[in-house]
Amino acid sequence: MKHLIILGAGTAGTMAANKLRPLLQRSEWDITIVDQTTEHHYQPGYLFIPFGMYTADDVVKESRSLLADGINFVNSEIERVDPDQQVVHLANGDDPKYDYLLIATGTHPRPDQTPGLDGPEYGRSIHDFYTLEGATRLHKALESFTGGRLAVNVVEMPIKCPVAPLEFTFLADSYFKKRGIRDKVDMVYVTPLPGAFTKPVAAKSLGGMLDERDIGIEPDFMLERVDTDEQVLVSYDERKVPYDLLVTVPINMGADFVARSGLGDELNHVPVDKHTFLSKKYDTIFALGDAAALPTSKAGSVAHFAVDVFTENFVNYVHGRPMERSFDGHANCFIESGDGKAMLIDFNYVTQPLEGMYPLPGIGPFPLLHESRRNHWAKLAFRWTYWHMLLPGHHLPVPNAMSMAGKHEEDS
Ligand SMILES: Cc1cc2nc3c(=O)[nH]c(=O)nc-3n(C[C@H](O)[C@H](O)[C@H](O)COP(=O)(O)OP(=O)(O)OC[C@H]3O[C@@H](n4cnc5c(N)ncnc54)[C@H](O)[C@@H]3O)c2cc1C
Repeated sequence: MKHLIILGAGTAGTMAANKLRPLLQRSEWDITIVDQTTEHHYQPGYLFIPFGMYTADDVVKESRSLLADGINFVNSEIERVDPDQQVVHLANGDDPKYDYLLIATGTHPRPDQTPGLDGPEYGRSIHDFYTLEGATRLHKALESFTGGRLAVNVVEMPIKCPVAPLEFTFLADSYFKKRGIRDKVDMVYVTPLPGAFTKPVAAKSLGGMLDERDIGIEPDFMLERVDTDEQVLVSYDERKVPYDLLVTVPINMGADFVARSGLGDELNHVPVDKHTFLSKKYDTIFALGDAAALPTSKAGSVAHFAVDVFTENFVNYVHGRPMERSFDGHANCFIESGDGKAMLIDFNYVTQPLEGMYPLPGIGPFPLLHESRRNHWAKLAFRWTYWHMLLPGHHLPVPNAMSMAGKHEEDS
């Protein structure tokens, strides 16, 4: 019997397990997936919780219920991997051996990495929406917020879903308008990037949307510390941004066991071949989803587009055949822009997000880099697609590789 161990039963791990089970003979292959929690969270739904649009019930399901028959689920924290012995050391005392290992333990907010952030003010004047607890607390904080300075701060890149902080900012603008207090709220978006986003065409468009909404931007802001007495963000070049309410996206890091196992970079993400996800150090280890250090966005869509390439290649690889499929870094994301509208971006390793129309037979096309109600409804409908199509590993009519169909060329 051969053993495949998948670490992490989040988006990437669950999809990979469900897709691989029918492809690997049960008489020959045992598939085990390990997670520290028994709950699977639909993290894109966290965005809507601060505004009372979703509650915890909308974003949580039991992890086991999402796994196909024939997949073993182990509920334990992972302590360490011994890549030479091909053993995983679990906090529950078990030390399972593997023939192949897939690391899919994601990336997670680490407020403890920034001085001043993770103190007694966390949950009072400082909030996040990158965790279920954080988003739920922020809902209460926003309800009782009657005016003042709201700063939304991205501490450092890369973060998962790099557009989510902008979406939060646009939704907050819309939320304060609905409550009739927008004129009492001074909003500022504080980012380490030179503009609103990384890629030039999208950065211009998203930056323009901040301007239109009278939201200030503080670019190139490398946060050194948060002074919670003075309520200011302080950068390494001594700039200060005051706040009454701080919504932070802390540094995102891969799991600590990745570092303990000698498998990670400085942020505990696993260096892999960007086309096949094979570890750069070990030929029995792959990493998928946010856990992998890839030069594309950390996003559920990337995990989704990557998983088909990975599973097909994996089956060939373990049978000694070449990995013929090559991942192109395809990512796409609906960006909520407030007032019941959203934009869409679609890009890969080499092509930045461009304007145009994203074709999708039946329900599309969807405007790229332009706000529309159709995009917003598609974003909300995606939750159903996630639970019922994506995680079980069903086929979606969306190509894995990015297509130029409908896109305007870069100089347009
Ligand atoms: C607010 C927000 C909005 C987002 N919006 C979008 C969006 O609109 N579109 C989009 O494509 N993506 C979005 N994302 C990103 C998306 O949710 C992630 O990219 C996706 O979940 C990554 O999947 P993953 O399997 O790599 O990691 P995860 O889904 O995070 O799963 C990792 C799993 O590993 C487990 N784990 C970690 N460490 C250990 C350990 N030591 N021991 C045991 N288990 C461990 C965790 O418990 C977890 O279950 C959003 C994320 C957030 C936070």
